[in-house]
Amino acid sequence: MLRRLMTSEEKQRSLFTHPTPYRTGLNTYMLPCGRCEEIYYVDEILFYLASIAIEKGKDNPFRCGACINEFERPSPQRSH
Ligand SMILES: [Zn+2]
Repeated sequence: MLRRLMTSEEKQRSLFTHPTPYRTGLNTYMLPCGRCEEIYYVDEILFYLASIAIEKGKDNPFRCGACINEFERPSPQRSH
């Protein structure tokens, strides 16, 4: 029985809840987008991961949905 292997990118993405521009039950941490610097609310995991990177002197790895879409430019035809 073969299972499709997930890329590391997919694995990483599946850990994250979706950041929202407003506070929600899960998204309670304010985090600016590393690209457009718009303030978003993220969950504990995403905030923690971003904090680690920033503490290590790296750039803020967080990208808001708009910046991700702009970067990835998903094709309109997606197979399910
Ligand atoms: Zn952004």
